[in-house]
Amino acid sequence: MSTTYRVMKIHDFGNSIFYRVACGCTDPDHEATLILEFDENNPKIMILTLYQRVVWGDWYYRGDKWFDKIISRIKTVFKILFKGWLELEGSMIFMDVDHVEAFICALQEGKNKLQLTK
Ligand SMILES: [Zn+2]
Repeated sequence: MSTTYRVMKIHDFGNSIFYRVACGCTDPDHEATLILEFDENNPKIMILTLYQRVVWGDWYYRGDKWFDKIISRIKTVFKILFKGWLELEGSMIFMDVDHVEAFICALQEGKNKLQLTK
């Protein structure tokens, strides 16, 4: 399996490799960008970063009224303002074994790059 099945390599900069990972539901808003980074000063370390658009959950599933949604957003803004951070989560659907294997293939590529720098 290659990384071309729902996991597409965007670019290899040498010290960082970028992939676009499609969500199994095919919504482009659920896509993630997987970045594997390698530090020349610490050749045994690989940093994995996953960028994904996440949505504040009050808009889904709870059935809040319009005003409650606005209050929830205002509370969220104050959390960010006074705490400086916010916990969010994003999900991605892996549709089948091939999709998972393509993701693993991307990680394997990073692993191989680490082993080359030993
Ligand atoms: Zn999705």
